[in-house]
Amino acid sequence: MPLVILSGLPTSGKSTRAKQLYDYLAERIAGSPSGTEAQGGAAASTTTATTTTPAYRLHLISDDALSISRAVYDLSALPAHTRSANASEKDARAAIYGAVKRVLSPRDIVVLDGLNYIKGWRYQLACEAKNFRTPSVVLQIGCSVDQARSVNEARLQRHAQQGETGDAEEPYSVANWDNLVFRYEEPNPMTRWDSPLFALTWDDDAAQTRAVFDKLWEAVAGENRKEVRPNQ
Ligand code: ADP
Repeated sequence: MPLVILSGLPTSGKSTRAKQLYDYLAERIAGSPSGTEAQGGAAASTTTATTTTPAYRLHLISDDALSISRAVYDLSALPAHTRSANASEKDARAAIYGAVKRVLSPRDIVVLDGLNYIKGWRYQLACEAKNFRTPSVVLQIGCSVDQARSVNEARLQRHAQQGETGDAEEPYSVANWDNLVFRYEEPNPMTRWDSPLFALTWDDDAAQTRAVFDKLWEAVAGENRKEVRPNQ
């Protein structure tokens, strides 16, 4: 399972980019040689693969897909010393972890759309990928705090007008949003678990987006992708 971990501020455009990446990867998988898994331990299966077997299966995992509410991240109302005991966020992480592990294999590309704002959590995910001898990368969605805030404010307004619709555009409460921005632990390409690190910003156009996706594809599925050993 090459694992693509998205990371970014709340309402910074992560799901939008995750869907674009999913469509891009689907297109690349359809166009890549069938049944010829690049590296990472699946080479033995090529003798039995038919020409119609795609080299990879593709998965998009997100809070919305797992019905995880924005409210689970809300620590703003808790006293500081109880923060590490936020059971709902821990449960949410366990659900995400379980969903990722269920599809873990060198033949599955997983796009993990979410805040992924805690570096220890990204470390844990990268270790899991390594255990399965498959690469992990981070795609950081860059967006100014003001831009991201205005998206959440617009959603709050719509939500107030329409009531709780339960649609995919659930806003964060203002305090929750502010607190998440405060807690955000920016990916650091100098660390093993945050590298390779790719980045897209709000204003990146289609050509730039594709150029970044091309590089990301090379890292997770290209012929020269790095071999992953569990105890490296
Ligand atoms: P997140 O997943 O980070 O909460 P979304 O992807 O849901 O953010 O995006 C929030 C809103 O901003 C959506 O209405 C989306 O259409 C819009 N949006 C996201 N990224 C861009 C972008 N690069 N350019 C213009 N609008 C965007």
